[in-house]
Amino acid sequence: MAASYISFVEVGPRDGLQNEKTLIASTDKLALIAKAIDAGARRIEVTSFVNPKRVPQMADADAVCAGLPDRDDVTFIGLVMNAKGAERAIATGRINQLGAVAVATDKFAIANQGQTSDESVAAATAIIHQAKSAGLTGQVTIGAAFGCPFEGEVSEDHVVEMARKLAQADPIEIGLADTIGVGNPAQVARLVRRVAEAIAPLPVRVHFHNTRNTGLANVWAAIGSGASVVDASLGGLGGCPFAPGAAGNVPSEDVVYMLERAGITTGMNLEKLVAASQWLSGVMGRQLPGMVAQAPAFPAAGQGD
Ligand code: ZN
Repeated sequence: MAASYISFVEVGPRDGLQNEKTLIASTDKLALIAKAIDAGARRIEVTSFVNPKRVPQMADADAVCAGLPDRDDVTFIGLVMNAKGAERAIATGRINQLGAVAVATDKFAIANQGQTSDESVAAATAIIHQAKSAGLTGQVTIGAAFGCPFEGEVSEDHVVEMARKLAQADPIEIGLADTIGVGNPAQVARLVRRVAEAIAPLPVRVHFHNTRNTGLANVWAAIGSGASVVDASLGGLGGCPFAPGAAGNVPSEDVVYMLERAGITTGMNLEKLVAASQWLSGVMGRQLPGMVAQAPAFPAAGQGD
């Protein structure tokens, strides 16, 4: 039985945009953040503090942070890979939460962050401690949890063990990411349930890419198995520079449509999300993958309730 409320993290400004070749203006990123807040988002991954030579789209992290609105009710998340990134994020004074990444396989961990899987767990643990000692909160996502672009199948036992170790750092939650979009709902249900049991009472967050069109089915399977937080990206933008062929995140508006129609509250306003997605499509100069923003409104205006 799924929860009646799912909390939602908008990851469009970071995960959504990081793989885009054309540099998006900081002002457009800030407009995207403002539109997400207006649509109800209260946790937003706004940028990452990584090497700008490796991820040029995130080179304006400081400018984006300087332009963030004063909102006590919104948690601004910065993704960081190491102590130096964490220091930069903390120094902005605008980031409320550090997001760390631990990777389930050695080959992807080395490609993504130059570490083995075990080293990535140690680094994420250090980042969570760093966040807490600076008065921020910390969370961690296990990347390639459902499949690896280099090693193929991933050991579920290893992911559960990683989650158990990471939980000892006392993050606010642990995320499971299908970085390359290879997971299926049965696998998702199984792994989410095992991780949820291993880290209880810490919440499980899920992060799905829709590379093979299983994203929404995986969201549904995850929340039926105990996940209570879902990452999504407006319009379904997204990819990973270090994972060959990775495609977009699950689209925020499609996730919210599905959940709200199924009676699960998200705190999000679908109409505003759709408008924001259509605006973003204009900024990007192309049709985005999300389908709800391209479909007629349902129920039509005035027909609701
Ligand atoms: Zn992602």
